Amino acid sequence: MIYLIMFLVMGMIGYAIGNQKGRPVEGFFAGLLLGVIGLIFIALRKPRIKCPECGGWIEKGIAYCNHCKAAFDQQLAANGILKKKEAS
Ligand SMILES: [Zn+2]
Repeated sequence: MIYLIMFLVMGMIGYAIGNQKGRPVEGFFAGLLLGVIGLIFIALRKPRIKCPECGGWIEKGIAYCNHCKAAFDQQLAANGILKKKEAS
């Protein structure tokens, strides 16, 4: 029983770390199945942010959505903000 609680706690911690990186489900299962190793794994994963155009996940720092082909401002994207590129 105590093991079950420990696994769930690991899953919750994984969820919390993963949630900050846009990977809550991945974090939960990494913590649940791999324990401390899973937590390190999820902590090292690249953060993701949601595309404001289509809602697809994009790795942070990339100013281009490979789901809907939207292009974003490069400098803002590096800081984790996706703003559609102004046509110049
Ligand atoms: Zn998109």
